[in-house]
Amino acid sequence: MPGFEIFGEEERKEVQDVLETGVLFRYGFDGARKGHWKAASFEKEFCRRIQVGYAHLCSSGTAALSIALAACGVGAGDEVVVPPFTFVATVEAVLLAGAVPVFAEIDESLCLDPASVKALLTDRTKAVIPVHMCGAMARIDEIKALCEAENLILIEDSCQSVGGSFQGKYLGTFGHMGCFSFDPVKTLTCGEGGAVVTNDRELYRKADAYADHGHDHTGNDRGLEQHDIFGCNYRISELNAAVGLAQLRKLDRILEIQRKHKNKIKNALADCPALHFRNLPDASGDTGTFLSFFLPDEDAARYAAAELTKAGVDGCFYWFDNNWHYIRQWTHLKNMSTAARLPLQLMDNCPDYSKVELPQSDKVMGRTISMLIRLSWTEAGIDTRIEKMMKILKG
Ligand SMILES: *Cc1c(COP(=O)(O)O)cnc(C)c1O
Repeated sequence: MPGFEIFGEEERKEVQDVLETGVLFRYGFDGARKGHWKAASFEKEFCRRIQVGYAHLCSSGTAALSIALAACGVGAGDEVVVPPFTFVATVEAVLLAGAVPVFAEIDESLCLDPASVKALLTDRTKAVIPVHMCGAMARIDEIKALCEAENLILIEDSCQSVGGSFQGKYLGTFGHMGCFSFDPVKTLTCGEGGAVVTNDRELYRKADAYADHGHDHTGNDRGLEQHDIFGCNYRISELNAAVGLAQLRKLDRILEIQRKHKNKIKNALADCPALHFRNLPDASGDTGTFLSFFLPDEDAARYAAAELTKAGVDGCFYWFDNNWHYIRQWTHLKNMSTAARLPLQLMDNCPDYSKVELPQSDKVMGRTISMLIRLSWTEAGIDTRIEKMMKILKG
């Protein structure tokens, strides 16, 4: 997964460009910057790469989600359907928008189950945020059809799936807006960074303004720019954008290596009768970031995960026990342990999160192990890995 594994001359060169001008700000300073616009260049190349109309590079994936929610008009009291298996940031962004996260079940796609989403809709439901988890797609065609039929905002959390696609269309480009993360452990990294993308010019304009205090980014004098809306500061610096630009140009190589490594292991493990793989709605659009598989029950999965770690098979995640990626351990949410009172806590539709029951998701997550695919693995290393995995998983 992590782009940091292949840092090199390219990243250093882009950063050096910025350091030589001394212009770390992504806007203005037209003369001093000697033609270097790293954030703007990233946006242009990213649009071309994932075939989308507009992109705005920002300070993090969490920021991207906040920007998307604001631009799409999702705010106080609105219910937003989210999966319980995601990095907790998806939920944080909804809470901080003053909106109400509503948890739907996941299925063996490891993403939202469209039937469960449908069952939870109320007249306060405003948006759905499917998360394309662990490098591959949710059942995005069905979720999109549902959102269209019910007139709901669709925001894709594609933070873990840059470069992934479904039936030839890139993840993040199906809904009103798509969100990406370029944090230090993601497929592409800026150090810290994120992006929102959309094909809607008006949503882009709002997102671009919201991420920079409402600035409309027209003209040459920031002091004279207009502000139609309130915003915040979710800007990226040119230094971070420079790292990301070099990384973006490596995306094809990253995907190729990941897919090759993953396929080799997946093919070898296909002989293990006790195990089956994650359901991928379109296997050809998988980024190969993770190999996810299911064991027959919770005990078998927990045992296998421990044995794999013991045997030195690194990068295996048993999400069911993980504090950050599955609702089961989100005690801060269940207890509403906040630094300051959230708008949600004043609302009559504030759920009691300690009582949320997700039996279908528990059943899926209890049996799931995901293994991170690294770029730096050698063929011999992969062979050894397969041998160790077979010994533990075949029995
Ligand atoms: C990483 C991640 C985020 C948040 O991104 P940051 O850049 O770390 O803020 C949001 N959602 C998912 C699914 C993620 O994996």
